[in-house]
Amino acid sequence: MNEQTTYEGGCACGAVRFRATGAPIRVGMCHCMTCRRVHGSAFGAYVIFDRNAVSFAGRTQAWRSSQAGRRHFCPVCGSVAFMTYADRDEIDVPLGAFDETGLVEPAYELWCKHKEPWLPRGARPEYDEERTC
Ligand SMILES: [Zn+2]
Ligand SMILES: [Zn+2]
Repeated sequence: MNEQTTYEGGCACGAVRFRATGAPIRVGMCHCMTCRRVHGSAFGAYVIFDRNAVSFAGRTQAWRSSQAGRRHFCPVCGSVAFMTYADRDEIDVPLGAFDETGLVEPAYELWCKHKEPWLPRGARPEYDEERTC
């Protein structure tokens, strides 16, 4: 996401759309049990932006997944829409929700204590739980 400044994406049914402007703060993968379950997949991958860099169209519903975490989803199709935090101005947009592939590559992996053993190891920094840096 260097040259181009705006990227769009949305949920599986199209009821929720978003537009992200500028470069993301970071890109990561998470193997925690909550990410596994909300995505219904082996891990979640997120493109993290400043809260103000992403605008949304369409209604979402949210639930409280941790003390500070709020996970939003499309109430029509159930797709993961985004995640926000009560204690910081960041927004996690699911990598798979962008319209294009190959936009960004994750730079680290979290909660690797729950990582599936058949996934490749050592491709990028791995943390047993949260990032320590
Ligand atoms: Zn939807
Ligand atoms: Zn997670």
